[in-house]
Amino acid sequence: MSKPVNQFRWPEEVPVAPLFRRGRPTSLSERAERVSAARTEVEARGETFYQGPSGVHLASFPPKERWDDWVDLDSRAWPRREEHHYMLVPTTCFNCESACGLLAYVDRDDLHVRKFEGNPEHPGSRGRNCAKGPATLNQVTDPDRILYPLRRVGERGSGQWERVSWDEALDAIAARLRKAIVEERQNEIMVHLGRPGEDGYTEKVLASWGVDGHNSHTNVCSSGGRTGYQFWMGADRPSPDHANAKVIYLISSHLETGHYFNPHAQRITDARANGAKLIVLDTRLSNTATHADWWLSPQPGSEGAINLAVAQHIIATGRYDREFVRKWWNWQEYLEACRPDLPVTFEAFEGELATLYAEFTFDYAAQESGIDAATLAEMAETVAQAGTRFSSHAWRSAAASNLGGWQITRTLILISALLGSIGTEGGLFANAWNKFVPKPIHTRRTRGSGRS
Ligand code: SF4
Repeated sequence: MSKPVNQFRWPEEVPVAPLFRRGRPTSLSERAERVSAARTEVEARGETFYQGPSGVHLASFPPKERWDDWVDLDSRAWPRREEHHYMLVPTTCFNCESACGLLAYVDRDDLHVRKFEGNPEHPGSRGRNCAKGPATLNQVTDPDRILYPLRRVGERGSGQWERVSWDEALDAIAARLRKAIVEERQNEIMVHLGRPGEDGYTEKVLASWGVDGHNSHTNVCSSGGRTGYQFWMGADRPSPDHANAKVIYLISSHLETGHYFNPHAQRITDARANGAKLIVLDTRLSNTATHADWWLSPQPGSEGAINLAVAQHIIATGRYDREFVRKWWNWQEYLEACRPDLPVTFEAFEGELATLYAEFTFDYAAQESGIDAATLAEMAETVAQAGTRFSSHAWRSAAASNLGGWQITRTLILISALLGSIGTEGGLFANAWNKFVPKPIHTRRTRGSGRS
């Protein structure tokens, strides 16, 4: 490839990072002035200025108008000013399922990826990544990565393999699967994959084969937490609007710690800057807990009891969203099935609701969790005041590896369902509400499996 012609002169005319090239600013107001000056310069050239959400940082992303031919100086050549030309190609990090945006810096001379940086155009990560994002380069250049299909030719464990074509690999695998299906031995097929992030597509394919042997990392990870969500809303993950919440309630040590759910962490930071209160239930002082207004360290597995006490407080003080409950809860069915002696009226249900949850007092939760009742009462009052701007999230941690851990998520959504903070600004959304999700699967009964 011939070296492209530079569209500008470096660095006199086009400052790439004017904030930092001119010396270290000494105060926030000085930084703000420099950001403002940088914006003026960049926009005067008809280019996009990427303002970091903090207001004073991350203002040095390359303008997208120059992504086809971005020029960086080679830091290793310093003090010589050695230019390198790159194509900046948007791509996605999949070191976790947050799937943040990245820009691949592709060297125009040899088309090798030299580095990854954040993509300011990505709506989720907005240019900011955890450390694993840029480190993705290791995976691209790892000499041990598998580049083509391999077939074992020696004894299992002997490490002897031969290269085969994709056609050979697919034909061999498909033939064995087909034979098992034709012979109605579907229960001998099991598919395992790392982390399914496609909302049921694989299950749908497997169901079409009559196969229900699907295993993944999720089984020993977040399945407990997901089950509680699934039972309430038919979607196994929440997508809370943390950015607009008044109160954010997190049950998990890792959730917004930074190595995972980076886009969520950004929104929580934004919300806190706007005055939102952060409540963290976590047995350890996690990074997230260090930012909390309320850090509660309960006995592991007692989080559900705390959730029930919060729910009881909301019910007992009449702070629930009556219209939401009347419209969306199956209160008529409940009364008909469980209290046929009562009239099928919403008022009768409200009385029953208060009776049902009366036992879950702060004293009860204190006994279960080891956190004193007065602290729980203060925290619950904060939640009650959030109204429809109550966002929450429980994932692994508390809901995993506990008998009945899924009830922690279930009792958590109960709070949102009482406050009416579902599908609201600052509330809880199902992750599947704004994307394609196949209908639930139905596998047919397979011979000998005893299952359907
Ligand atoms: S949070 Fe980190 S590891 Fe996960 S997708 Fe984003 S950059 Fe990659």
